[in-house]
Amino acid sequence: MGSIFSTHMFPFHASMHAPPAYAAHLAATIKAALTIPVFAAGRIMNAAQAEHILEQEQADGVEMIRALIADPTLPRLSQEGRAGEVRPCIACNQGCQVRGVMNVPLGCNVNPDVAATQPIIPIPQWLSPAGAAPSLVVVGGGPAGMEAARTAALRGRRVALYEREQTLGGTVALAAKGPGRGELQLISDYLQAQLEKIGVEIHLGVEVTPKMLLAQRPATVLIATGAYTGSGLLPIPGHDLAHVVDVRRILRGERCEGARVVVIDETGSHGLLSVAELLAAEGRGVEIVTEDWYVGHDLVATHDIVPWMQRVLAHGVTMTPHTSVVRIEPGQVIVSDRFIAGERALPADMVVLGTYERPEQGLYYALKGHLPRLFRAGDCVAPRHIEQAILEGRQAGMQA
Ligand code: SF4
Repeated sequence: MGSIFSTHMFPFHASMHAPPAYAAHLAATIKAALTIPVFAAGRIMNAAQAEHILEQEQADGVEMIRALIADPTLPRLSQEGRAGEVRPCIACNQGCQVRGVMNVPLGCNVNPDVAATQPIIPIPQWLSPAGAAPSLVVVGGGPAGMEAARTAALRGRRVALYEREQTLGGTVALAAKGPGRGELQLISDYLQAQLEKIGVEIHLGVEVTPKMLLAQRPATVLIATGAYTGSGLLPIPGHDLAHVVDVRRILRGERCEGARVVVIDETGSHGLLSVAELLAAEGRGVEIVTEDWYVGHDLVATHDIVPWMQRVLAHGVTMTPHTSVVRIEPGQVIVSDRFIAGERALPADMVVLGTYERPEQGLYYALKGHLPRLFRAGDCVAPRHIEQAILEGRQAGMQA
């Protein structure tokens, strides 16, 4: 039996915005009408959800694809009572989207082994240099730094990880604060649990300086300091005014007074668009301005565009495509349509910069040439997605 789904009828490859096992009730309806085995499919992400479907007799079996891409050992670990050690699929629909015309190889945002990196060969405990000074210091506790620390520790290295915030997770932990994006936190939680289990020293709330590392002189240093929000491809005049904030500051809880918000969308990214949704859900009048043909291009490939449009349009969000931002002024943003001459003003009590991120690379360049083995990984090389951060973390951890 085949199946036909569309984004208009029902989600397929449903993202984290759809409930887990969202189609199990359909399997139950079909099972009630047939005498042959019926399998349930659709965002069944872990063994507990699968067991629940079987216990409720909604289906005779379950199909899990993305969960097994994220961790092919899920069945064995779950059977052994080690479900907490399963690397979780976060239903991001990014690395594993392979049915496009580009015929890209399969990847996964959370599982670097899908991209055929070298397998980790753990060094026996009795060969590990226990008690010695850290042979690897990782600066930055985002996904790249955590995966590098995990990989190096599994290879027997003694690892210390420093993070300037009070929590691990970096940009991913921040992105998880967007509406419906909480599942992103699963990968941070998984990596943190792994680091604690394998004995990585974790130092939170520490701003590492070049002086500290030059005094400590560890055998290897990995910089994974992430990225910060830029001020526009060409810096937007007025980007430093008091009523201008960026996506990161909004996700940290910062707000300006006033109900009218203009979101400047340079990237079409999930993080930015979740911030627009967040502010609209607070009852603010939100207008998204982009030079693109339409708002939300990153949401198309991940199958999020239709439900996101439904949610934000219900909040009254205004979309203003093919429009350039000329400058930001107190109380307004001056824009110009790309195809119609002239400028116009959009009222704005708060302006949100959804501009391209820049690599946080100051520490790396301050140390370059002063330490024998210095690596970097993730967004501090070039801001990209979780997939590249974790993959580079794995590669750096294999070299460290
Ligand atoms: S890319 Fe995302 S949705 Fe796909 S298997 Fe990996 S974590 Fe799951």
